[in-house]
Amino acid sequence: MLVIFGFRTKTEVLRWVALVCRVCGAGGRMLLLRDVTKFSLFFIPLFPIRVRYAVECQNPACRARPKISAAEADGLRAPAGS
Ligand SMILES: [Zn+2]
Repeated sequence: MLVIFGFRTKTEVLRWVALVCRVCGAGGRMLLLRDVTKFSLFFIPLFPIRVRYAVECQNPACRARPKISAAEADGLRAPAGS
């Protein structure tokens, strides 16, 4: 029997965050992203096996995409001042 399985990573855009880029130093808005890798069987995504967070710099000359920890991402996802 042939079993086809694999891993598929999908990037979700969570929200805009105000941050200073660690790479180019430009302040401003960065995109908070979540990469979810799912285990799939016969091309059907079944369950997530890995979740990673990153922010994407919107400076066209930079476009860095440094990874951040889940704790950092939680802090950024919480609305400021509430
Ligand atoms: Zn940058």
